[in-house]
Amino acid sequence: SPVLVWFRRDLRLSDHPALDAACATGRPVIPVFVHDDVSDSLGAAPKWRLGLGVEDFAATLADKGSRLILRRGDALAQLQALIDETGAGAVFWSRLYDPQSVDRDTRVKTTLKDAGIEARSFGGHLMFEPWSVETGQGEYYKVYTPFWNSVKSRDVDAPLSAPPKIPAPEAWPESDDLDDWAMGAAMNRGADVVRPHVRLGESAAQSRLGAFMANIVQGYGESRDIPGQDGTSGLSENLSLGEISPHQCWHAGQRARQEGKQGAETFLKELVWREFAYHLMHHTPRILTENWREKWDSFPWQDDARGAQVLAWKKGRTGIPFVDAAMREMYVTGRMHNRGRMIVASYLTKHLMTHWRIGKEWFEDCLIDWDPASNAMGWQWAAGSGPDATPYFRVFNPVTQLDKFDKSRDYTRAWIAEGRADPSATALSFFDAVPRHWGMSPEDEYPDPIMPADEGRKRALNAYENRDF
Ligand code: FAD
Repeated sequence: SPVLVWFRRDLRLSDHPALDAACATGRPVIPVFVHDDVSDSLGAAPKWRLGLGVEDFAATLADKGSRLILRRGDALAQLQALIDETGAGAVFWSRLYDPQSVDRDTRVKTTLKDAGIEARSFGGHLMFEPWSVETGQGEYYKVYTPFWNSVKSRDVDAPLSAPPKIPAPEAWPESDDLDDWAMGAAMNRGADVVRPHVRLGESAAQSRLGAFMANIVQGYGESRDIPGQDGTSGLSENLSLGEISPHQCWHAGQRARQEGKQGAETFLKELVWREFAYHLMHHTPRILTENWREKWDSFPWQDDARGAQVLAWKKGRTGIPFVDAAMREMYVTGRMHNRGRMIVASYLTKHLMTHWRIGKEWFEDCLIDWDPASNAMGWQWAAGSGPDATPYFRVFNPVTQLDKFDKSRDYTRAWIAEGRADPSATALSFFDAVPRHWGMSPEDEYPDPIMPADEGRKRALNAYENRDF
């Protein structure tokens, strides 16, 4: 009887333990993607990007003589229907770790097993299962550096090759038409602008990993902090949808380290930040919605997502060039440089004293590399409410940060058009990406700061003072 391989955020053929195991049974393999309430609840950009990923992956499978069967509705009900239609005796998938997926997958596994179906989940999305890393006291890690120290010398499985052949069933079940799902509907005008910046699919991700290791990793230690340069891997969107596996990145990083490439270790450490984020989400899922440090519950956050200052922040019109450049980069490319993420998050939560949740939810809507664990950890880190967070008194100064990390002004020039005689094409494309009702034009004057750097810093520090954080 056939094996269903239920794909979710693992849209690749190589280093895919669930697919590998399915092919190894020698039975026919039926790849399936179900658009259920978990995928339907994604924000505009992540859902659009997932749709592109599914389309591309379906084509990759077709090249291999296989197919991706698309179904819409409750995942369990759809899998059961496929089992009835095809006589499948097994369902394999790659594990996910966010509470919504875990609840769903647990329900699917229990029900299928009760019905005598072999239901098996596999690793692949992470290198270190979150429950497999613990302190000497048997607890989970709350601080990154000891987490890194405990995993850095572990053996990470060598990546699996793509199965040479995916055995096809005698007859294929019916499939939905992806276009009917309209996964890009909420992107509106943004889709056309962002599309050329998308690195889509497994082979594009693999080429980028190769190019990064050949040309960029050597100087990554410094270049990773300069948002005006192409100095990072840019693989987050592929990791987010599993178009590349962390194991593949890790092994490439290890090889680069053995070849003496300087930035390789820093790259490995960044990959482990992602693992750490999942470790935290697994052990404290409330990091997704609540202050990780409960003491922060009493902090007087500004909590109005539609307030004038929040709106200016969203529009990239704070009058603080580093903040505005980074927000605009996000609307045009679907991604934002890590330095930019830290600056805009710090400005929103500290200078504007706005609840980090508002920023986190905005990113959920706008980032094509959205990742539940890294996004939540990043926001709580910037706000100071998270584990291993920046201390409250460390308020990034977005003006001096510019002198440090965008000395040449390449970054701000790339993204801000107002007040320039000859704005760059990327800066202009921002105006095509954002909603028309924002009423923005490159001919507008660049605004004065809605909250000057020094004033905002003093206000934030005053608010923190006398609080027992
Ligand atoms: P590289 O510098 O090439 O790093 C390689 C990989 O390591 C990344 O692809 C990523 O998987 C991982 N990584 C690097 N830095 C971090 C980090 N700080 N935390 C966790 N993993 C990291 N990352 C996301 O993938 N999705 C998000 O939704 C997300 N939201 C963020 C929100 C805030 C407020 C902050 C401060 C950071 C957020 N990050 C997020 C982390 C980081 O900014 C991105 O992973 C990084 O910018 C991606 O670019 P890159 O692939 O070129 O990274």
